[in-house]
Amino acid sequence: MDIMTQQQRSDLMSKIHGKNTKPELFLRRFLWSKGVRGYRIHKKLPGKPDLYFGPEKVAVFIDGCFWHKCPECYRAPKTNKRFWTAKIKRNIARDIQVDVSLREMGIKSIRFWEHEVMKDPMKCYKALKRALK
Ligand SMILES: [Zn+2]
Repeated sequence: MDIMTQQQRSDLMSKIHGKNTKPELFLRRFLWSKGVRGYRIHKKLPGKPDLYFGPEKVAVFIDGCFWHKCPECYRAPKTNKRFWTAKIKRNIARDIQVDVSLREMGIKSIRFWEHEVMKDPMKCYKALKRALK
């Protein structure tokens, strides 16, 4: 049995899946403080990148540690295990497909884990700077 009510579940989902989720806002504020400008948000490209730098053709994704199975943070859920495992597997397969599609369009994608953004935004900033060169 699932311990969450449907309402709680949908609150959680919108928190995790919604626009302007916390890590994304956090990263954008950090980048702003570093003088990074000129990106688009949630541009209509494969995978809807969190940030997209048009002239440089760089797409940035922040992957949720649970939803994309971060090797450091991921813990298998205790309830509905089969459901979540299948869902996460699909997410990962989609990530790969998205990267391939973007590459075919000449767009470079860079992915950060949610925990990297929250714990070490400087590292993300540096990786981004390298990608934008
Ligand atoms: Zn993580």
